Amino acid sequence: MTALLLSAVVAGCCFGSGEPVRGFRRATFWFVEPGRNTDEIEARAEALARSAVDWVIIGGGRHHYLHDDLPFLDDYITAAKRIVSACRARGIKVVEHHSAVLTADDGCVRERADWLQRDFETNEPSVWPEYRTFAFCPNNPAFREHYFGLAERITAAAGVDGLMSDDTVFHHGCRCAACARRWSEEVGGDIEEAYKNSRTPGSAEWRRFNEVRRMWYADFRAWLCRGRKERQPNTVCVSLAGSITSPWGSQTHGGSPEAALDTSDICVWEIYNPADFYSWRRLAAEAAVFAEAARVRKRAAVCLPYADSAERRDRADEQEEVFMWALAQSHRLRFALSRVFLTGLTEDQPPREYFLFEREHPDLFADAEPAAAVGIIFSHVSRDLDPHWESSHTVPAVAWAEALQDECVPWRAITEETLGRGLPRNLRVLVMPNVFALSDAHLGVIEEFVRRGGTLVATGNLAACSERGENAVSVRGGRLERLLGARVASADGASGGQEAESHPTRRVEPRFLEHGFGLGRVLYSPSVIERDAFQDWMNPGEQYRDDRNRTLSRELAEIVRRDSRGQPVDIARTNPDLHVLTTVHKQGRRLLISILNCSGADLSNGRRVPAPSRVVWGPPFDLELTFPKAPRGARLVSLDAREDRSFVNPDRTLTLRSPRRFGVLVVDL
Ligand SMILES: [Zn+2]
Repeated sequence: MTALLLSAVVAGCCFGSGEPVRGFRRATFWFVEPGRNTDEIEARAEALARSAVDWVIIGGGRHHYLHDDLPFLDDYITAAKRIVSACRARGIKVVEHHSAVLTADDGCVRERADWLQRDFETNEPSVWPEYRTFAFCPNNPAFREHYFGLAERITAAAGVDGLMSDDTVFHHGCRCAACARRWSEEVGGDIEEAYKNSRTPGSAEWRRFNEVRRMWYADFRAWLCRGRKERQPNTVCVSLAGSITSPWGSQTHGGSPEAALDTSDICVWEIYNPADFYSWRRLAAEAAVFAEAARVRKRAAVCLPYADSAERRDRADEQEEVFMWALAQSHRLRFALSRVFLTGLTEDQPPREYFLFEREHPDLFADAEPAAAVGIIFSHVSRDLDPHWESSHTVPAVAWAEALQDECVPWRAITEETLGRGLPRNLRVLVMPNVFALSDAHLGVIEEFVRRGGTLVATGNLAACSERGENAVSVRGGRLERLLGARVASADGASGGQEAESHPTRRVEPRFLEHGFGLGRVLYSPSVIERDAFQDWMNPGEQYRDDRNRTLSRELAEIVRRDSRGQPVDIARTNPDLHVLTTVHKQGRRLLISILNCSGADLSNGRRVPAPSRVVWGPPFDLELTFPKAPRGARLVSLDAREDRSFVNPDRTLTLRSPRRFGVLVVDL
């Protein structure tokens, strides 16, 4: 029943009109300080214009908790209006940004106690320990009405171009009267009982409890944005998403990145506190997944690296901004410059060369489609149903991505929504890393892909559960055995059936069983071997850890590379110790190959990751690029313009010095 309700909620939304949002490409933040005079505001707007910023997200500071600031709201609106006016004169759009539900204000808490989210254990208003705040419940109808009016008043009076409304999640679950009523009407039964029964990860009750919270989060967001489209149709809805590969949102508080994408025009991916440069492997894998989830929905997606664990606002490495801008661009994500504590770009800061570069080369960053012939499925359904947090699906999926990235094998992310729309036509290899939860329809898409000649590389308990997390081996066992050439042993999301019974034609790389299916073939490993090739993100000040099995990483990349007919380019590194991030996109008859220097991010095990995190651009080295046939021409457009070069009448194989920092090789096919 709940799944039906959710699809009704989302289908009722009016976003993703098909046109990606115009403008809104280069963002920064702006704390609104009511004391600032007009000259100061003009000076800051001018600094933004000098950096080619074209939209700004205002708010922050005390105002981030909207309800704490109600006594000062008129002053805030007056200041915001001046900012809007100064920005608009320079072609910069403005989005109002606040936390819709969080409050640290005692008066608010006393006065509106009946609107607060309540803890299941104590029945007291629940506190978010990270922020030491209370939160209003987005299910409370009186709160909704109050908040909608407030948001409308601010956005209309300040004249902003959009609203970014944060934090409407159920951090601890909530047992307030509104939630209890809603549970009994929509699900049936008692919410406290349901909560108690939901405490065992993997149980049917756990799955249902999490699913209902995700549904309620999506419902609030859809209600808010639909209302805003009716009342202020020329403004955009901006949403906030956390890590798309982590179950943090979907299993902890209901705020899933997919719902954030479904209920907005622009979705901001917040990267919270890691050492970005040293975490490039996992972050780049996530960027690919987030970009694909946005692409299939026709949403604009923005990368926002952000730290509030730093000691000081001004202690950050500007080159790390450059690095993260380039990582975002490599996966066609827009960028928001936050600096630490969402300080944004201030008037004392130098112009940002990467934004100027982006403005100077709009064609390089215009819409383009992923071009790789190899896909890795990231399944948000498996992520949400993973009873072992990230271990069953996220870790293997990220490990595959990291292995291919390291060896410069072009790959693209595939999500459930990609499967729903039909797989890309040029796809030749599809990797399914322990995708243990899969719908019948999506399994059908996979079977058809292999039947028509595709190569499937699968590990673990492929499709052993339905998309609702129910054991499906008893009904699908025969079907899976015909596809994989082996029996899927178990429906446990985590164990990855160690002892699958198999009757393969032959074994590949000792680890994979090879099997023919229709015109295609299947390489299947019953155990989830790729976990040993996973590197997690790094935190500033911690010891660097890279205990990946490198032999295994290379082996995974080799298995895919061997099947590389159909890839738009083969990229070989001439120095196996140095790393670049490469991505390949197609734009009409051009290939865009993004190349980002990551070499300096490899530290020896146990060395301390610098805090604040600092970028060390490693030495450039030669890449050999081989195309299916000789391109008509190629040119490197580098962030460091002195590296720009053209290749006239290139051969099929082209040797390219990797850029010092970042560049795009534009290849005319
Ligand atoms: Zn509630």
